[in-house]
This record gives sequence, structure tokens and C-alpha cells, in this order.
Amino acid sequence: MQETIDKITRSFNAELEKASSVAELNELRVRYLGKNGVFTEVMKSLKDIAKEDKPFFGKLLNDARVKIEEVLQEKDKTAAKEEQRARLLAERIDITLPGVSAEAGSIHPLSKVKAEFAEIFTSLGFEIKEGPEVELDFFNFQLLNIPKDHPARDMQDTFYITDDVVLRTHTSPMQARVMLEQKPPIRVIIPGKVYRVDDDASHSPMFQQIEGLVVDKNISLCDLKGCLETVCKKLFSSKTKIRFRPSFFPFTEPSVEVDCSCPLCGGKGCRICKGTGWIEILGAGILNPKVLDNCGIDSSVYSGFAFGVGMERVAMIRYGIPDIRIFFENDIRFLKQYK
Ligand SMILES: [Zn+2]
Repeated sequence: MQETIDKITRSFNAELEKASSVAELNELRVRYLGKNGVFTEVMKSLKDIAKEDKPFFGKLLNDARVKIEEVLQEKDKTAAKEEQRARLLAERIDITLPGVSAEAGSIHPLSKVKAEFAEIFTSLGFEIKEGPEVELDFFNFQLLNIPKDHPARDMQDTFYITDDVVLRTHTSPMQARVMLEQKPPIRVIIPGKVYRVDDDASHSPMFQQIEGLVVDKNISLCDLKGCLETVCKKLFSSKTKIRFRPSFFPFTEPSVEVDCSCPLCGGKGCRICKGTGWIEILGAGILNPKVLDNCGIDSSVYSGFAFGVGMERVAMIRYGIPDIRIFFENDIRFLKQYK
């Protein structure tokens, strides 16, 4: 019996030498200590031994078994540690390598200015409306006090689609559409694209305007000035001043050109304001009573003001952009600056 136990121990030790993984050790455990393992078989042979010898050999067998169990447990721990170390090494990430960054887009400077206008005007209680870019002559001109053959049509070089249909030359036709639909008090802005036969560094055949319209009782030039000054201060800086110069538009009376103090030099004079300290920013005026009457609003009760701002013009001043055409070229190098 002693011999059998020694033989088992020797063969186990030899096999243990070769086993290194947790799986191999498990396999070894099953083969020696399992239900149908080597030890179970030897235990069975105890029954052939003389009764008085049984306790001695039983103990011997059990000691050998416990010893093997201990050795296996010890080696299990080492093997598990070793396997974990190997896995961590294989899965190692070099955090010093430069990352792969995704290209992020940026908002177009015109869209930024448009969003800013929308925020400023909605905070002043204005609604935002939009209208058709292909417009009837009737809305684009006639309701706004510019009948056919009126010399004022020469002020706007128009793309005609037919005799009665045009690409709108301004956002003002929406003034007429709003007044025909809505009863006063009215406070709306109308942003959108407009079209004129024009193409140079400061003019583009397509550009964007924001139209403003207010109709209520007792609206005066003071209301217009207060509104525009508030907007310019919010848009540029709290020190911005505005001034009115007399002008002419058929749909407003009186009409004004509005200048703001140059936001780039603060009024001292620079290249952008051509040394004057002022920048022309928009056209405005008190609604011509004829326009109100054309649109079914009683001009003896109501008055109003309107203005139109070129969005490109504001963005050019805001960002110091010298040529309007850059906005539409979609040059990535230009657009990337506005991230
Ligand atoms: Zn200036």
C-alpha cells in the first residue's frame, strides 16, 4: 500500500510539473481527487487489507490526499495570477498615443447673426414670421405704395419671373401679408433671403434681410429710435449710439437711414467706418398711411414703423469681413474660424 501511495505521489508530482494553466490544474484535480479519480480507486482497495492495518493505511492515504489538495490550491493561485497578468499585458492601452479626434462642424457666421437677432427681438416681444421668396408683384411693390411704372422701382434691380411674379427684392411684402392677416397690435420680425440684380464686394444677387414691423396706436419715430437703439446696444455693445439721417422709401414717411457708432473703433474713426466713426446699418421709417390703408388698417387710428436690416452687413461689421462673397463660397478655412 505504501508503495502504491508513493507511486501515485510521484506520478502526480511529475504531471504537476507540466501543468501551468488553471484549466490544466482543474483537469489534474478531477483525475486524482474526483469522484472516479485515482484516490477513490485506491480507497476501494482498502477493503482487502487486514482490519487492524486499516486505520494506519487509511491515514496514510488521507495524508497524501490532503497534501495533493494543498499543493493544487497553492499552484492554482499562482496560475490565476499569472493568467491575469498575461491578459492585462495583452490588453494594455498606450494612453500616451495621440487620440483620434472627430471633425466638428461650426455654425455659419450668418446663421449666428440670424439667431442673435431672433433672440434679441423675441426678448422684446416680437413674433417671427416667414414668407415666400417667389412673390407677386402685387405684394412686393403695389401694396407697398410702388405702383407699376413708379420711378422708385429703379431703386431695386429686380429679377422678374413673369410680368406679375418676381423674386422678392426685400422682406417687406411680408409686412403687407401680415397686416392683411392680423389685426393690430402687431410686432413681428421677418428674416429671409431676398434677390437683386447686383454683384460686387458689398452686394450679392442673393442676400438676407430682417424686416421689422410694429403697428399700434400712437406709434412714433421715438418708438422706432428706442427700439433700434436697444437692438444695436444688445448686438454690438452697451456704448453703441445710433443716429437718423433723412431718406426716402415709398412705403415709409418719414424715412430714415440709421447709422450706429462704429463698434470696431468706438467712434474714433477707422478703415471699416472710413474714418467717420459711423456705420450705416439699416433703413427704416414710419409706415406710410397709404400702406396701412392698402392693407385694410385704418390709418386715422393706427400708425406704425418698419425697418429692414441686411444680415450680411451686420455680420461683416461684427466679424470684420471685407467681402460679402466670402459668405457664400463655403471655404472651409473661412468657416472654421467661427467655431
Ligand atoms: Zn470705425
